[in-house]
Amino acid sequence: MTSLADLPIRDDLRGLTPYGAPQAKVRVALNVNENTHDIPEDVAEHIVAAVAEAVRGVNRYPDREFTELRTSLAGYLGHGVTPEQIWAANGSNEVLQHILQAFGGPGRSVLGFPPTYSMHSIIASGTGTRWIAAERDAGFAISAETAVRAIEQHRPDLVFLCAPNNPTGTPMSLEAIAAAYDATEGIVVVDEAYAEFMPEDAPSALTLLPGRPRLLVSRTMSKAFAFAGARLGYLAADAAVIDALRLVRLPYHLSALTQAASVAALAHAPAMLAMVDEIRGQRDRMSRELAAMGFTPYESWANFVLFGGVADPHATFEALFRESILIRDVGLPNTLRVTAGTEEETTIFLEALGRLGA
Ligand SMILES: *Cc1c(COP(=O)(O)O)cnc(C)c1O
Repeated sequence: MTSLADLPIRDDLRGLTPYGAPQAKVRVALNVNENTHDIPEDVAEHIVAAVAEAVRGVNRYPDREFTELRTSLAGYLGHGVTPEQIWAANGSNEVLQHILQAFGGPGRSVLGFPPTYSMHSIIASGTGTRWIAAERDAGFAISAETAVRAIEQHRPDLVFLCAPNNPTGTPMSLEAIAAAYDATEGIVVVDEAYAEFMPEDAPSALTLLPGRPRLLVSRTMSKAFAFAGARLGYLAADAAVIDALRLVRLPYHLSALTQAASVAALAHAPAMLAMVDEIRGQRDRMSRELAAMGFTPYESWANFVLFGGVADPHATFEALFRESILIRDVGLPNTLRVTAGTEEETTIFLEALGRLGA
């Protein structure tokens, strides 16, 4: 049998492992930060009708510029963002890949601050961009000073910031983001996959866009919007950045079905986001109850909680899995990460963990 090592694969891909969050049919899946609430039935029906209509045109290539979708996304984001400032792709992972294809690549580097979203370094290696890991402050925060010091030390071509950060939930201040921008002549990407779960009054990095043409803010419909299976991520940036991304995308990368489904879903944004308050409530309940059980939850502005004080994360993960509850071992010592589910899912998880103990 041929193994990977026998193939003439790129030298820089030898020995790497692919993204591999376990996918299993379980009773309670709280492992990849999805919105675990079903989308409302009337919204589902409207999306089905829109997709059915689009099917009738699939003999033709889709709108390469996804104009209607960009208009919908700009309307959803607000903050004065225009359709010319929007880019979208099959998940924000593909958006990030386009960014690295256009601004990174062989001979270039991207600076990140682990522990952070594992796909950032994986997309870096896929595009041949050197990944540089910088240190966070205590408690996983990144102060303005810490960001600036790392940028001045490493002089990267791109900086990836994740706010709120996955897998820790840690917020990042706009002051620190702006300082990072001022410290580099390169591209600064703020991954705001969890923006909708931030406190109501917390400002988005979208507010920093005017006058900062090298700042890119990426978002996704996979988390708050309950649309992970449809694959739609997007970003807002200066229109010139969007022109740069056009150079690397494959033509017609967003299918007519994806465009139709996403436009239809965005027309129901308030209904699709109706569960965000409830999810934030379950997140805060998890943090409180985990602390009461003797664990040490980290502050989270996202839809999950990272908690420390776990004697043997692998054993606890396995014990929960045997009860058909799937959470995430992100590889940090003595910690596990769990997505905030419905009230019922959250209760099942907390009761099972309570029985197992630390
Ligand atoms: C889940 C997640 C994404 C989303 O990826 P999609 O490809 O849009 O599903 C992006 N960034 C972070 C930090 C995430 O946690």
